[in-house]
Amino acid sequence: MVDMKSVARHERPAHALHAEQRGVIDAALARAGGYLPAALVQEIMSSGISIDDLMSALIPYAQEYAIPPISSFKVGAVALGSSGSLYFGANFEYVGEALSMSVHGEQAATAHAISYGETGLQKLAVSAAPCGYCRQFLYEITTASALSVLVPKGTPTPLTTLLPAAFGPSDLGVTAALMSPQAHGLVLAERATEAGCDASSDEVVDAALAAANASYAPYSFAYAGVALKTKDGAVYTGSYAENAAYNPSMSPLEAALVSLVIRGHASYGELVDAVLVQASGAKASQLDVTRAVLRSISNVELRVRQASPPTR
Ligand SMILES: [Zn+2]
Repeated sequence: MVDMKSVARHERPAHALHAEQRGVIDAALARAGGYLPAALVQEIMSSGISIDDLMSALIPYAQEYAIPPISSFKVGAVALGSSGSLYFGANFEYVGEALSMSVHGEQAATAHAISYGETGLQKLAVSAAPCGYCRQFLYEITTASALSVLVPKGTPTPLTTLLPAAFGPSDLGVTAALMSPQAHGLVLAERATEAGCDASSDEVVDAALAAANASYAPYSFAYAGVALKTKDGAVYTGSYAENAAYNPSMSPLEAALVSLVIRGHASYGELVDAVLVQASGAKASQLDVTRAVLRSISNVELRVRQASPPTR
């Protein structure tokens, strides 16, 4: 009987990177996890590899960031942003939580690109064919009509071919799209001073507020952002990303955890602070799921701040 797992593990990509290219990539990943800036992508391509082959060859690198303690199935995704930079994504699962809390590699790559200010994706390479949930998630982004998806051994396929007769923002009268710049002008409802905490210089709250202001929630207006601080002082943020079909929406905590793990090479055990800022008075809320998922990976207590539009 053939051990399919071991076959897959030892399979070499069709266009394997040569040693010099691997050296350049390893150095870049050590500087900024799972991110290859456009100039470096051009430099690697000039050494004789196409963008499609480079993205496919990088998938095993992206898979290294996956944390799937339930399925043990590591998904890797590599997204080409509109700027020409590459962003890795991987899947994340949370023990003791509903499977619907899982983050898929394609979502992680998109959130990672958003964290660098990308306003669209040109291509996405994935280690396995994107599931229906991810096709729906990707259909929300600014460049959905031009996005090309690469799967192993397959030819690049337009997202619109993978998702025929799609339901999207326009079906709900929404003209905005995920990855378009967002600025909601929210301000904190109160700058409460906590014991042992100087509210005037609460960088984690400020970072979560900025993430809420950059969030995409055209259906519920429940703008939300999360900021996570690790023991080395680094702060990672995530912005809420809604979807016309509601369920593939990505929570701000999960987006922040993508940053922490992929961008920061950090582990959950390094968390020392977590803040959720969300718009008050909305019909949707991130509060309960944020507490639940955070509790599954950390003993850090979630701090919560309400925000509202500036008074006119
Ligand atoms: Zn998926």
